[in-house]
Amino acid sequence: MRYTTLGKTGLKVSFLGFGGIPIQRVSREEAAATVRRCLEQGICFIDSARAYTDSEEKIGGALKGLPRDSYVLATKTMARTGGDMARDIDASLKSFGVEHIDLYQCHNVRYDEDEAALFAPGGGLDALLDAQKAGKIGHIGLTGHQVSRLVRLMKTGQFATIQVPYNFNELKPEEELLPLAIKENFGVIAMKPLGGGALPQDLALRFFLDKSVDVIIPGMEEPAMVDQNLRSLIEGSPLSEDEKAEINRIKQQLGQSYCRRCDYCQPCPQNIDISTVFLAHAYYERYGMKDWGKKRYGSLKVKADSCIQCGQCTGRCPYSLPIPELMKKVAAEMG
Ligand code: SF4
Ligand code: SF4
Repeated sequence: MRYTTLGKTGLKVSFLGFGGIPIQRVSREEAAATVRRCLEQGICFIDSARAYTDSEEKIGGALKGLPRDSYVLATKTMARTGGDMARDIDASLKSFGVEHIDLYQCHNVRYDEDEAALFAPGGGLDALLDAQKAGKIGHIGLTGHQVSRLVRLMKTGQFATIQVPYNFNELKPEEELLPLAIKENFGVIAMKPLGGGALPQDLALRFFLDKSVDVIIPGMEEPAMVDQNLRSLIEGSPLSEDEKAEINRIKQQLGQSYCRRCDYCQPCPQNIDISTVFLAHAYYERYGMKDWGKKRYGSLKVKADSCIQCGQCTGRCPYSLPIPELMKKVAAEMG
């Protein structure tokens, strides 16, 4: 396992980290087994979010009784005001069952209003600084999907780390963000390294073998995924010319309008599992696995035809996917 220093935080982290979105979908026992497998294999960077429902609690259950210095704990919140931020930091500490969180990040900073509330006197950043002084958190980080906004915010000097979607199909961070991060010694956390499951696992991870990021955090929900990811990074080699040609072919086929399974679009008033609907459809339409896609779709309790076109999900999708329209398309094609 390769270890890196997470920029100016000075934290020592494993190059492969644990992304905490998918454990929402599995039991506490399965989640604990996955987190424990990570730690046994030397994966020590663990990332979650207040918004990932019970992810922090499930991780906390897995970490119970382990020495606090055997892992680096990161989480994030969409709280923006001082009061909400202070409440969320305390809620995260309680959910994890710890007294200190190494990295607390402002999650998915997306709108001008987010920035205004965070930077206001007594706002979210002041609450983070207070929590830092009180020893509740170690460092303050930033996450988001709009690269130009992130670059601007990195220049404020308030953040030690940057977490951004980066993979072979999302290369925008390479233009300005990554050079700035290197120059200013930011810790760089690559999220969505597998494009939310849309990219082929082995090629997608090996893409990072010659990239200058500190930690990549694919979501993992079962121990076998941990082993598979480790194999790619430890036994694999950087992409060959033939494999680079193959990823170019995949990029052309995939484009940018696809679901990354972040689940930010939830909750849906009709209880549609939006990301799983899109995953099943992707297998049906795109990956040449029509039968498997149909079967997966058929097993869903609520299907795309239950969409009432309310549009509540649309503004929440960081990739601006036209979810109600896509629901119509899936319903028409998959019944
Ligand atoms: S538009 Fe459809 S998928 Fe989106 S929240 Fe409303 S019912 Fe759910
Ligand atoms: S539709 Fe958008 S918000 Fe919902 S899971 Fe997919 S990428 Fe995320």
